[in-house]
Amino acid sequence: MEPSPLELPADTVQRIASEIGCHPTDERVALRLDEEDELKHFRDYFYMPKMRDLPPIDLSLVNKDENAIYFLGNSLGLQPKMVKTYLEEELDKWAKMGGYGHEVGKRPWITGDETILGLMNDIVGANEKEIALMNGLSVNLHLLLLSFFKPTPKRYKILLEAKAFPSDHYAIESQLQLHGLNVEESMRIIKPREGEETLRIEDILEVIEKEGDSIAVVLFSGLHFYTGQLFNIPAITKAGQAKGCFVGFDLAHAVGNVELHLHDWGVDFACWCSYKYLNAGAGGLAGAFIHEKHAYTIKPALVGWFGHELSTRFKMDNKLQLIPGVNGFRISNPPIFLVCSLQASLEIFRQATMKALRRKSILLTGYLEYMIKHYRSNDRAETKKPVVNIITPSSIEDRGCQLTLTFSAPMTYVFQNLGKRGVVCDKREPDGIRVAPVPLYNSFHDVYKFISLLSSVLDSAETKK
Ligand SMILES: *Cc1c(COP(=O)(O)O)cnc(C)c1O
Repeated sequence: MEPSPLELPADTVQRIASEIGCHPTDERVALRLDEEDELKHFRDYFYMPKMRDLPPIDLSLVNKDENAIYFLGNSLGLQPKMVKTYLEEELDKWAKMGGYGHEVGKRPWITGDETILGLMNDIVGANEKEIALMNGLSVNLHLLLLSFFKPTPKRYKILLEAKAFPSDHYAIESQLQLHGLNVEESMRIIKPREGEETLRIEDILEVIEKEGDSIAVVLFSGLHFYTGQLFNIPAITKAGQAKGCFVGFDLAHAVGNVELHLHDWGVDFACWCSYKYLNAGAGGLAGAFIHEKHAYTIKPALVGWFGHELSTRFKMDNKLQLIPGVNGFRISNPPIFLVCSLQASLEIFRQATMKALRRKSILLTGYLEYMIKHYRSNDRAETKKPVVNIITPSSIEDRGCQLTLTFSAPMTYVFQNLGKRGVVCDKREPDGIRVAPVPLYNSFHDVYKFISLLSSVLDSAETKK
C-alpha cells in the first residue's frame, strides 16, 4: 500500500507493522522501512566508521567489524568518499603546474569558491549572488554584524534566544562592546517559560512587538543546537522587519537538515558552517547570505582584495571596485582544499535533493521518537526503570532530525556506556544527550540498533544502583 503524503510517522510505523503482522517495535519494521527507502543508496557515498576504530569502544560488548551507530552528524558529518579524489586532483595540479593552477582546471583556484555556489543555492533557498563561501562561521557572523548592527541611541539592542551557542553569544557581546554599549542593557535574551525547555513562537513575537523599536538586530539560530528546536524563520523575520529591525539567522544546525527559503522569506542575512550536516570536514568552508534587496546598500566594514570585481582585481591599481552584495564581503583568496571537500558533499545533496531528504528525515526521526516512547512497552509496569525524556518539540514543523534526550539515570553513565557499545552521539551540559539520525547516511535499522543498545545501557544503570 502506498503511504499517503499526510501520514504521520507513528502511523507509518503502525501501518507497516500491521502489513507484516508484527509488533511496531519489531526489527522487521526497521528492515522494511529501509527496503522502501528511496535514498538508502546514498549511505554508500560515505565512509561509515567501524566499531573497532572508535576510541571509547569496549570490544567485549560488540562485534569489532560492524558499523558504528553514527548519530553525530549534527556535530561532524561523515566523510564523502569523493573528498579524497577531489583533494588529489588539486594536489596533483599544484605539483604539476604550480601557480598556473590559479587559472586552469576544473576548479581554477581564484574562483574555486564560485565554482560550487550553484550547488549551495538550493540548500539555503537563495540565488547565487546572495551567497558567499568564505571563512569560518563565527568570522562570518562578525563580518555580517559589523555591517547590519549600526546602533543608535534609540535602537541599540540585539535580540537572541536563551542559551545561544557560546560563539554566537560571545560574538554578540563583543560587537556590543565594540560600540561601547552596556552588554546587560543591549543583549536582549528571550528565555523559555518557567518549567519549559523550548521557546514559544507567540512569546518571541510578543517581545518583538513590545520592544522592537529599541531592537537593531534580531539574531536567532535557525535550529537550536541544544534543544533541537526549529524556529519559525519566516514569522520571526516578518515580525522583526515590521518593527524596522534587521533579522539574521545562524543556520549552523539548520542547513542541510531542514528546507530553507532565505530569499523568499526575505531574511536580511544569515551564516552557517559546513562541517555539521553539510559533511565538509572539521573547519570547513562556511557560508554567508545577504538578501539581494541589500546588494547596493549594505557594504562590508572590512574589505580585502577578493571583494574587488574579478575583471579588474589583478590590475593592482588600488582603486576598489566593490562587488555588490555578499561577495564583496570576501576578504582573502579561497582555500581550495576546503572547496574540494565541500563540493564532494554538495554534489550528493544535489542528487538527493533537500525535499526528499527532509521527507525521509521526518520519518527517520519520527521512528526514533516512536521507538523511544515504546522502548519498554513490554515491561512498562516496572516503574523503577530509568525514564527517557525528549526535550525536542514533538511536532514535525518545530524540529529537524536531532532529538535531545534526558534521563532519570545519570547522563554521564548513559553516555559513556553508549560509547562503549559503538553509539556515536554527544552529551551537552546540563543533562542532555543529542542524537541525530541523518537521512543521507543513517538507516532505520541504525535507529533500531540504537534503541536496543540504549535499552541495555539503561538496564545496566538500573541494576547498578
Ligand atoms: C557549530 C556552531 C558554531 C561554530 O562556530 P565556528 O566558527 O564554525 O567554530 C557557531 N554557532 C553555532 C550556532 C553553531 O552551531
